[in-house]
Amino acid sequence: MHIANFTKIQNTMAEPRHKQEQNRLLGHVTQFKRQKGLLTLAIETSCDDTCVALLQSYESTERTEKPELVARLLFNKKITSDQRQFGGVHPAVAVEWHQRHLATLVEEAIRSLPEGNTSASQKTKLPYRTPDLIAVTRGPGMPTSLATGMEVAKGLALAWGIPIVGVHHMQAHALTPQLVEALDRSAAFSVASSPWEARQRVDAEVKAASGQQEEAQHPNLDYPYLNLLVSGGHTQLVYSASLTSHLIQCTTDNIALGDMLDKAARKILPPSMLNSGQNVMYAAALERFAFPRFPIGADEREYNFKYTPPATRAAEIEQHNSPYGWHLSPPLYASRKMEYNFTGLGSQAQRIADSLDSFSSYEKPTEQVLSLEDSPESGSDLAPSPDSSTTILSPALKEEDQIEQRRYLARATMQLAFEHLASRIVMVLQQQAKTSGEQQKVKTLVVSGGVASNQFLRHVLRRVLEVRGFGHIRIMAPPVNLCTDNAAMIAWTGSEMWRAGWVSKLDMLPIKKWSMSSTGEQGGILGTEEKPFYVRR
Ligand code: AMP
Ligand code: ZN
Repeated sequence: MHIANFTKIQNTMAEPRHKQEQNRLLGHVTQFKRQKGLLTLAIETSCDDTCVALLQSYESTERTEKPELVARLLFNKKITSDQRQFGGVHPAVAVEWHQRHLATLVEEAIRSLPEGNTSASQKTKLPYRTPDLIAVTRGPGMPTSLATGMEVAKGLALAWGIPIVGVHHMQAHALTPQLVEALDRSAAFSVASSPWEARQRVDAEVKAASGQQEEAQHPNLDYPYLNLLVSGGHTQLVYSASLTSHLIQCTTDNIALGDMLDKAARKILPPSMLNSGQNVMYAAALERFAFPRFPIGADEREYNFKYTPPATRAAEIEQHNSPYGWHLSPPLYASRKMEYNFTGLGSQAQRIADSLDSFSSYEKPTEQVLSLEDSPESGSDLAPSPDSSTTILSPALKEEDQIEQRRYLARATMQLAFEHLASRIVMVLQQQAKTSGEQQKVKTLVVSGGVASNQFLRHVLRRVLEVRGFGHIRIMAPPVNLCTDNAAMIAWTGSEMWRAGWVSKLDMLPIKKWSMSSTGEQGGILGTEEKPFYVRR
């Protein structure tokens, strides 16, 4: 959206119709005050982020006959441990971090609780309204980290005398777009991750105010939908039929996509960029390095990636020949197996990066290297600048050529990895088009997990689906700050499980490996009859 459009929106906002919309939104705020709703305090400590959130949600029939959930985040914070010296997550350091920060974060969240004027709070004599529910990540994840969060959660549930729900971390990622929808329905949405997000919301509200509801940014997300979960520990394509029924279509037995990109990034990134990050999400830095001119907080649709999607399966599995003399083979190019595999691509990328000149001889000071962000865009998505098209890996490569070649490698690695993700999505959709009834057909692809914040990924998925005949599939990805681990998604999933009638028992333990698959040995989200993970409330 250009500035001129934005001014137009501001003007439209002054119009009487917008007044009506404002009143409707203000109505939500009053509703929140009046309605008790469900107030959930959530804790997420499955890895190295200490996260706490407070979510208030209630059912509204204000706009539709069918009740729709409206949510508001009263608190949503995360503190990430500094694991850079280990180059990855060190379990003992993560635990110590949670122990140091969790209680203080909970204390801060408690200060955001509404004032206690309910009969329950009068009984407890507390100055705030006690939450109705505790939600805590139970798995999958690092057991010691999970246990730290779970013990605090159990203590709070005991002290306040309220139920507790042990949440499946990947289910929470998968449900995040629903949370976003519920937040969008509330005027009090406070987690817009960027000016772009905020503008989109204003845009949507203005459209709604002028009677264009059908063009709202987030139409309802109904089951069934396909879920692409891409995080540091998982890469899964899941068919989600309901809150607790999920079928894994495709997964990886070895390295997860986020982990592969983090490892490749550590070899590809110039050292100054590698060391300037605040965390070990090297893959996020890799995206910034690969697309230096991508506006911070923008949407992929606002940027020309100059990317040509493979129009056929044959094109998808062609070897990628770089103009520098090295090649990359796409993952599983010789097989249509329903599997994800990033091992080979990751090692190829690392090997190529290792073969390039070391930076030590001409490393520039940070400011200068960062100024590369302003370097001109190359001609095509992967094309190097004309003067760098040498095919010999000469030690005399100038620094700029070196950067250009690394940038090319970063883009090519991401492109092949993302096309591999898309290839299996296309296979599922093709199969579904042939066999399923209308009821089972998915209309939406939800992309969640930390890697989902990658705008090039969103772009590749959208473009591949378009050229392969699935342009009608809507792609939904949460705002960036809800893609990576956070407690808001745990609060939402815990609230949904509670609404569906499920709670956990106080003797629950962390679950290191917990498959979402309803047909798997563990019985999926709910567990088996012999070993249930939830009980009826
Ligand atoms: P999660 O396990 O869901 O918290 O996600 C963390 C993973 O997502 C890490 O491997 C991150 O490096 C990765 N990640 C975060 N941001 C990006 C990004 N913009 N592009 C690719 N990977 C990312
Ligand atoms: Zn995660």
